Amino acid sequence: MTTSKRHADDTPNRPDDSPTRPLNFIEQIVEDDLRTGKFQGRVQTRFPPEPNGYLHIGHAKSICLNFGLAARYGGLCNLRFDDTNPCKEEMEYVESIKEDVRWLGFDWGDREFFASDYFEQLYQWAEQMILSGDAFVCDLNNEQIREYRGTLTEPGRNSPFRERSVPENLDLFRRMRAGEFPDGSRTLRAKADMAHPNLNMRDPVMYRILHAHHHRTGDTWCIYPMYDFTHGQSDSIERITHSICTLEFENHRRLYDWYLDRLGIYHPQQIEFARLNLTYTVMSKRKLLELVQEKRVSGWDDPRLPTLRGLRRRGYTPEAIRRFCDRIGVAKFHSYIDVTVLENSVREHLNATAPRVMAVLRPLRVVLTNVPQEHVEHVAAINNPEDPSAGARQVPFTRELFIERDDFREEAPKKFFRLVPGGEVRLRCAYIIRCDEVIKDESTGEVIELRCTCDRKTLGKKPVGRKVKGVIHWVAASTCRKVQVRLYDRLYTRERLDDLPPGEDANQYLNPNSLEVIDDCRIEPSAAEAQPGQRFQFERLGYFCVDSRDSQPGQPVFNRTVPLRDTWAKIDKANKSR
Ligand code: ATP
Ligand code: MG
Repeated sequence: MTTSKRHADDTPNRPDDSPTRPLNFIEQIVEDDLRTGKFQGRVQTRFPPEPNGYLHIGHAKSICLNFGLAARYGGLCNLRFDDTNPCKEEMEYVESIKEDVRWLGFDWGDREFFASDYFEQLYQWAEQMILSGDAFVCDLNNEQIREYRGTLTEPGRNSPFRERSVPENLDLFRRMRAGEFPDGSRTLRAKADMAHPNLNMRDPVMYRILHAHHHRTGDTWCIYPMYDFTHGQSDSIERITHSICTLEFENHRRLYDWYLDRLGIYHPQQIEFARLNLTYTVMSKRKLLELVQEKRVSGWDDPRLPTLRGLRRRGYTPEAIRRFCDRIGVAKFHSYIDVTVLENSVREHLNATAPRVMAVLRPLRVVLTNVPQEHVEHVAAINNPEDPSAGARQVPFTRELFIERDDFREEAPKKFFRLVPGGEVRLRCAYIIRCDEVIKDESTGEVIELRCTCDRKTLGKKPVGRKVKGVIHWVAASTCRKVQVRLYDRLYTRERLDDLPPGEDANQYLNPNSLEVIDDCRIEPSAAEAQPGQRFQFERLGYFCVDSRDSQPGQPVFNRTVPLRDTWAKIDKANKSR
C-alpha cells in the first residue's frame, strides 16, 4: 500500500489537522490517475448538494472528501447545486448550504454552479438525442411506465410510442417545452434497452412536464430534466475528473456513461463510497424535515440534530468535524459509526482549546463559618492546563459558596471521595474544607445548606498528615451569575434506525429525556459576559457553548456539547499529582 504524509503546507484549502494515515481507496485511485496522466494531471471534484434541506454530518463526510482531495492534490473543488426539482428546493437552503460549507472551512472560490444554469444546454442535448434516434416522446403515464418496466427477473416491454419518427418526436418535445401539454401527460425517454438487466437502462425518463416555479429559473421552464439526465452532464460540463458519490448511485453509473457516450462529450470517472451512518442518529433529509415540521425538535438548528447548524449550536467545532471525517475514512461497504467517535473528536479539540471555568449545575449552599462575612479573596485558576499560553484568571472566593448538590452525600458509598458529614474535600484551586453541620429544611428534610470550616493553610499545598482525595468545583455565592444551561442526550434510544421492524417508526424511539433545561445554574463571573458561540469547559461537567439563538448580552445560555469522559479518573490523577 502506498502511503503519503500530509504537511500543513500542501493543503491550501483547509487547515491540516488530520493525522498521518494510509491512503484511502479513492486517494489511491486519484494517485494512480495522476501517475498515468489519465486527466492530464488534473484533479477536479465537486460537492453536489440538492438544495432541499440543511446539511448534516453525512454531507460533511462528502464535503471533506471532495474538498480534501482537491486540496491534497493541488486540484479544485466546485460547489454545485443539483437543483433539478423545482418543487422541493428553495434559496433559503442554498444560502444555508454555502454558510455551512464555509463554516466547515472550505472555499470554492468563484466555482459556484447550479445545474439549473445548464437547463438550456441540457435541452439542446435532449434534442440532439432525439435527432440521433436515442430519445422519444412517450405518452404513457407514470403508472404505465412502471408497468412496462418489468422487474429484476423479467424484461420490460417497449412503449407503444417508442417508434415515433424523429420529426414527430422533435415537434412534440418542442411543444412540451412551449407548455402545450398538462403535467404528467408526456415524457421524453431515452431509447436504451427495455430488456437490460439494469433497470435504470430501461428507457429511463429524461424530461417530465411540470408547470412549476423554479427558485432560480422562475417560470422559464415547464419541462424539467430528471436528475439522472442532469448529474453526469453537469459533471461533464464542469470537467470534473473524479465524480464521487454514495453507493446508491453505483447502478446509475451505467446510465450516466451511456448518456455521455451518446452525446459524445467528456467523461468524468464516477467513484462510489459508502454513506455515513451514525448510531442513535437519523440522517435522511426527509426524516429530519419531518422532525422539524412536527416540532419534535425546535428547528433545523436544534442542538440534538446531526445537521451542521445543530452541531454548531451544540458547540462542535469545524476542526472536530473534519477530524472525525478523516478518522472514519471511506470504504465501499455499509457500516455504522459509533456516535462516540464523533463525540470524542470534539472532546479532543475542545480539551486543547476551551478555557476552563467553574459552574455549578445544581447549587447547594456552603457557609464557611471561619471566613468573615466581608471577606473577598481571589484565587488563581489556570485557564487551560493543555495550553500554557491561555494563562490564568482570578476567581473570587468568599464566605458563602455553592457546590454541586451531587458532591455531597449524607450517606455515601465507599468510593465516594467528595463531601460527607465530618469529611474533607478540596475546593478546586482553593482550600480544603470540612463539613461540620448539615442544615435541612424542617418540613421536607431536604439538605439546604452545609456549614463548613476552611483550612486556610492549604491553598495550593498538600495537607500534612491527612489524605484528602476529592476535588470539587464551586462558585462564590455573592459574585456568581445565574444562567440557564441545557443538557442534551441522544435524540433516539435505538442504536440503528434504518433497519426498523415492519410497522415501526423511528419516532417510537425518540428519547423523551433528550433535553434537560436547568435554570438555576451558577457560573463564575469570568464567563458571564461570554459571547454566542464561545466554548468552555465547565470543570468536571463537560464542554459547553454559549447558545447563539437564546443568549442575551450579559445573559448567556449554555448548551452542553458533550460531558467529560471519565471525570473521576481525571480528578484522581490530578489528586495524585498534587
Ligand atoms: P439525504 O439522503 O439525506 O436526503 P441526499 O443524498 O439526497 O441526502 P444530497 O443533497 O443529494 O443529499 O447530497 C449531496 C452530496 O452529499 C451527495 O454527493 C451525497 O452523496 C452526499 N451525502 C449525502 N448523505 C451522505 C451521507 N450520509 N454520507 C456521505 N455522503 C452523503
Ligand atoms: Mg440526493
